[in-house]
Parts: sequence; C-alpha cells; structure tokens
Amino acid sequence: MTDADISRALVGIADELAARYAGGDAPLLVGVHTRGVDVAKRLKALLHERGCEVGFGTLDISLYRDDLDNLGTMPSLKGSDLPQHVEGLDVVLVDDVLFTGRTVKAAIDGITDFGRPRRIELAVLVDRGNRELPIQADYVGESFATQREDYVAVHLEESDGEEGVFLLKR
Ligand code: 5GP
Ligand code: MG
Repeated sequence: MTDADISRALVGIADELAARYAGGDAPLLVGVHTRGVDVAKRLKALLHERGCEVGFGTLDISLYRDDLDNLGTMPSLKGSDLPQHVEGLDVVLVDDVLFTGRTVKAAIDGITDFGRPRRIELAVLVDRGNRELPIQADYVGESFATQREDYVAVHLEESDGEEGVFLLKR
C-alpha cells in the first residue's frame, strides 16, 4: 500500500464509523500499542473532520512466555491508558494488523477488567488472515492473503518517518 492507499483505507474506515455512530453516543477509540495508537489517532482526527468527537485510550499488549505448559509466547496486557469508565460505552479497538486474533483477545480481556462496555468493535488497517481464534474485524482497511511465515511491514509517518505497507514473503 502506498501513502495514498493508506489514506484511502483510513478515510473509508472513518466514513463507516461516522455513519455507524451518527446521532448516537460517541464511541471510545482504543489504540493497541505502537502503530494501533497511530492509526487510532488518525481515525480520531478524521472523525473530528466529520463532526464526530470520540473518546481516546490506549492499551499496551506485550508477549510473555508461557513457560508452564510450553505453549510459546502469548500476548497479555502490559499497560493501559483508558478513561475511568468504560461501563456502558461503545468501544472501538484499533490495531494496525490483525493476524491470529490473540492480541485482540488480550485487549478484550484487558478492557473488560475495567468494566462492562455496551459493545466492543474492532477496526484494523490490515487483515492478514490466519486467525487462531473466532475473531473478525468490523472495519478493515485492506485484506492481504498471507502465509503464516510472511510478515506485513507497516510503516507510518508517526513511528517510522515514512508511509507504506509491504507484504514480505518468507
Ligand atoms: P495477532 O495477535 O492477531 O497474531 O497479531 C496482531 C498483533 O501483532 C498486532 O498488534 C500487530 O501489530 C502485530 N502483528 C502481527 N502480525 C503482524 C504483521 O505481519 N505485521 C505487523 N506490522 N504487525 C503484526
Ligand atoms: Mg501491534
């Protein structure tokens, strides 16, 4: 994806979110650590341009080694910056890439530790398939058919100083 493709994808997601939440309670956008936070900030700005003011929070989910049963690495919540109340809110989780779904599961677990949102949705810039849990995104910028061993390099101005999404075949 070029910089223009990324912009188009985010505008598409913002348009869908603005339509979804028009006239209702504003959702809380929650960006998942590094580049999910970048994407969430851009969506918040695009929604502002569309007259939709949203709340904002972040989750930091890191891999830890599950030594007990030797399952390998599992994502778990390391830190969060959420408003005090998530109770009754519409939460939109935002991440750069959706892969196995395990990070999103950890994010849902993390948020629901704080309270019971009315609903949790998921927006991602790239869906690269290969799910290991029954988790799907509600808003998708672009879907890539990938092999498990591939990698999708996501470069965003805020974190990388340049724009582009590249599928690296292994
Ligand atoms: P999952 O937990 O769904 O397997 O992986 C999603 C999380 O890991 C996201 O937070 C995402 O940033 C990162 N991730 C997984 N696969 C990729 C990938 O191919 N490229 C990038 N840039 N991030 C990935
Ligand atoms: Mg990530």
